[in-house]
Amino acid sequence: MVTVEEILTRVKSENRTVLTEFESKELLATIGIPIPGQALVPVKDGMDAIINSCSQIGYPVVMKLMSDKIVHKSDSGAVKLNIHTEEDAKTAFNELVAIECEDETKAISVQQMAKSPITEIIIGSLQDPQFGATVMFGIGGILVEVMKDVSFRIAPISDFDADEMLHEIKGFKILDGYRGKPQADFEAIKETLKKVAQLAYDHPEIAEMDLNPLFTYADGVLAVDARIILKA
Ligand code: ADP
Ligand code: MG
Repeated sequence: MVTVEEILTRVKSENRTVLTEFESKELLATIGIPIPGQALVPVKDGMDAIINSCSQIGYPVVMKLMSDKIVHKSDSGAVKLNIHTEEDAKTAFNELVAIECEDETKAISVQQMAKSPITEIIIGSLQDPQFGATVMFGIGGILVEVMKDVSFRIAPISDFDADEMLHEIKGFKILDGYRGKPQADFEAIKETLKKVAQLAYDHPEIAEMDLNPLFTYADGVLAVDARIILKA
């Protein structure tokens, strides 16, 4: 398996500061954060390569267009969920390659379709000018965007810090088994918080990191989207 250093060195050698979703998740996987199985297929390899990848990953799959020019993939139509058959895969491929984005190097990430989570959470990091590496946690969607219901700690963090971060947001109840849903796996969430904090602390060249969303289950978590940005 590749190392964090190898991935970062490769990105820097290409004079890039933004890792694709595929690379970001590859990096997270190297530090033990669970991700759905994924394969990267250059668009120029064509339909047959995509169909092969889909059957290797195993239906149902998700296909996403990876390009430097696309930041919010869903807004550009670059995320195709719930692909169950070869027919669906062909349709998705044709729709993805039709997206105009002036990027010759584009590729498609074929990934396992993760089952529905208890809830989607967000874990992030940034380099604060005063405090250095900092880790952030919140419940995905409206609670973060509108309510700013998030908690922050300076990295690295202890198990105690991670536990406080989890409990101090207003949305904690959503993780604690509401309306008959099971409780999210607190240990897995705390492990992920600690790993993200440690990664940001060990690599100050990582300016920003976003796991958005991280799916939570009664048993484990899964990073289905991620974005890592290096210092310019
Ligand atoms: P965007 O760049 O628009 O944020 P995402 O990669 O986050 O795109 O995909 C949009 C949404 O699709 C996610 O918030 C998640 O709900 C769902 N999704 C993405 N990848 C997967 C996956 N592998 N399995 C299941 N659902 C997924
Ligand atoms: Mg996302």
